[in-house]
Amino acid sequence: MSGDGAQRGGRLTGPLLRPTAKAVPGDARTHNRSLVLSSLFHRGPLSRADLARTTGLTRVTVSDLITELAGQALVQETGSKTEARVGKPGTLVDIDSDGHVMAVLDLSDTATARGAVITLRGTVVARAEQPTNGATGQAMLRIAQRTAEQLLAQTGPAKPLGLGVASPGVLTPDGQVVYAKDYQWNNLPLAAGLAASLGQPVAAANDANLRALAEFTYAGASAEGLMEVSLTDGLGAGILLDGFMLLGPSNAAGEIGHIPAMVGGDPCSCGRRGCLETVLNREVLRKANGTASGMTDKTVLKRVGTATAAVLAPIVSAFNLSDLVFADPRGLATPDVLAAIRQGLEERLLPQIMADLNVRVSQLGADAALLGAGSLVLANQLGVT
Ligand SMILES: [Zn+2]
Repeated sequence: MSGDGAQRGGRLTGPLLRPTAKAVPGDARTHNRSLVLSSLFHRGPLSRADLARTTGLTRVTVSDLITELAGQALVQETGSKTEARVGKPGTLVDIDSDGHVMAVLDLSDTATARGAVITLRGTVVARAEQPTNGATGQAMLRIAQRTAEQLLAQTGPAKPLGLGVASPGVLTPDGQVVYAKDYQWNNLPLAAGLAASLGQPVAAANDANLRALAEFTYAGASAEGLMEVSLTDGLGAGILLDGFMLLGPSNAAGEIGHIPAMVGGDPCSCGRRGCLETVLNREVLRKANGTASGMTDKTVLKRVGTATAAVLAPIVSAFNLSDLVFADPRGLATPDVLAAIRQGLEERLLPQIMADLNVRVSQLGADAALLGAGSLVLANQLGVT
């Protein structure tokens, strides 16, 4: 599995797990750089000796790489190991969190283009946003570009590493929007267009996929078997399996909104009835939670739980998922809603699978897609996954 991602240009088609094996000759130096940076990102600070042990590289190679990376303001020395050991204490090295920043953009809220400047560790240092006023097509692209320009003007003394964009719709690994219904984008070279006008490396991917990725990069989740369902304007999911982000041959893996969730049901925007989107949406969840009345609606809760589980249980079983996460920036997945979904899953899954399944709400809140866009920049520019 290892090495594949780097050979395909570091795009999100490769392994997402921390690389552990040494590279084949040829792109060895690039690979080893990624290996050192990934190790520091996830386990730093480390001494050079620790890094050599962790990566399997020689101490000489590690020292050379650290010198090179320090010169590029990507790593820095952070002091000495304090614990008493035999021999002289090793100087600790870590990711240089102030040397570079990333501009990140979230276009998944169709009312507002939201952006942030974040450190490599995901700390927000500046924000910018623009109302979309229902813009579509080229007009929406200009709004994205203006928001990105605002962000790049706020990077301060740190060097921008690039721009990451979380977009609704289906995107190819090189950031072309195949289609995004909300913005009437079809075959739009989103990343390439923004890169040309901004003079920065740009990477773009589906927002739901990026929320799942952020869970791995910034919230310590495993990439062994995780599905993150985004309860945002559009209903989508991202799936991490065996260390890979699933994209599929049409890059549309995780597009679960129009899977039939019940027989009959309400009419859907796609022209059919009873799609998951008609049950797991803002209006229905507000009703279930009794937002207006102050009392939960047990009938609606039950319907949400049953219909959601009817779609999610087969996916959980087919992929043997252990984490089912809901990205819930609007606070719709209340404990009552989660309990109803859990109940529905219990009725459909084998007890052993249910026992291993962790159903929860993401702790990353409204910034999950922004952080995921940061993960994408880290992966594309530094090979850090
Ligand atoms: Zn539908």
